[in-house]
Amino acid sequence: MISVDQALAEIMARLPKRRSSLCSLEESITRVLAEDLPSDIDSPPYDKSLVDGYAVIAADITSGVTLEILDEVIAGQTPTKSLTRNTAIQIMTGAPLPDGANAVVMVEQTSRQGQQVTINLEQILPETNVMRRATSLSRGETILPAGTRIRPIEVGIMAEIGYSQIPVYQQPKLAIISTGDELVDVSTTPQNGQIRNSNGPLLSTLGTTYGALASSLGIGRDDPDELTKLIARGLQADILVLSGGVSAGVKDLVPAVLNELGVQQVFHKVNLKPGKPLWFGVRQQENHQTLVFGLPGNPVSSLVCFLLFVAPVISQLVGVESENLRTSSAVLTADYQQRGDRPTYFPARLTQDNGTRYVTALAWKGSADQRTLSEANALAFFPAGNQLYPKGQTITVFEIPS
Ligand code: AMP
Ligand code: MG
Repeated sequence: MISVDQALAEIMARLPKRRSSLCSLEESITRVLAEDLPSDIDSPPYDKSLVDGYAVIAADITSGVTLEILDEVIAGQTPTKSLTRNTAIQIMTGAPLPDGANAVVMVEQTSRQGQQVTINLEQILPETNVMRRATSLSRGETILPAGTRIRPIEVGIMAEIGYSQIPVYQQPKLAIISTGDELVDVSTTPQNGQIRNSNGPLLSTLGTTYGALASSLGIGRDDPDELTKLIARGLQADILVLSGGVSAGVKDLVPAVLNELGVQQVFHKVNLKPGKPLWFGVRQQENHQTLVFGLPGNPVSSLVCFLLFVAPVISQLVGVESENLRTSSAVLTADYQQRGDRPTYFPARLTQDNGTRYVTALAWKGSADQRTLSEANALAFFPAGNQLYPKGQTITVFEIPS
């Protein structure tokens, strides 16, 4: 049985190249830039005033000096006159600084009589209240590099520098199929032996959270013909994630059906708990490749396998590697008895107190206990082997991105 690291290496070795495409400015939110974006303008485009007031020659300003007002410029206008000694031009915030001026006195620091203005300042330093052309950014300069994650702030910057179509990495198409005769849809009340399909919505929203274009293909009965039809549809996606049907039960038909449909198995079973039955394979066609994950049906196994193995694939393709599970360490708040021969990724709660990070393994009651999972924001890692991890011991944790 291969290790988690080997499994991840096998998966990552089969990733397709990142593809990019254009989207609109508004649609680019949360996406990642596939190219450097240079500016087509200087900003500001001209020397401008930062305040409402009077453009002056700094050297003219001495206590109580009175200057002749030559003109008025408002934002959007171009000054037509130049300052000469002992003159001023009234100017509004954002308007271009007239030739000859090198400072702006705030209107609050002046008093006006007709065409004359008295400056109520001892002196003014050159450049006061002036922003010179291209101080913020200059034409041709790369403003946002490839790899930038786009937030509303970047949307504003891209609008300023003239991008209405944004080159971003494409979102992989992710199809989700939940297999199992026991499953019914969320809108149905389960009858004898039935449970609601919670993995479908869990996995598709996990996919969306990591940036994939997720679509749920619904429930597949444990029947070879039905599974074949549904999986054939799922293979049109870039990534197909199945839950259930990959263990050793008589109705665990998924690997055989995948094989029939030309999906080449890369590995089946990984040395971890929960999640051992994980199946991974690739269907390679002339111009389309699908990575196929068969996750064990137990919801916690599905979650752990998605976080460890599917999320890194999506993150890599959309260009946000930083959002993978982050490894860190934290102090155990209670004893934990590790049993068994497989490395364990146990749902846990990470907290912080006075700069110290603490981790509490959740009182998880077994495979069907999703409710306890609602407290989880991390996976606590315990290596294989029977061992007591005492309260106070520092262990490795994987943070689940929110
Ligand atoms: P399997 O991996 O198919 O043997 O499924 C293991 C167990 O996981 C089943 O007995 C169910 O209790 C549970 N399970 C399987 N699929 C789902 C699902 N889609 N939603 C919730 N629980 C599931
Ligand atoms: Mg099943």
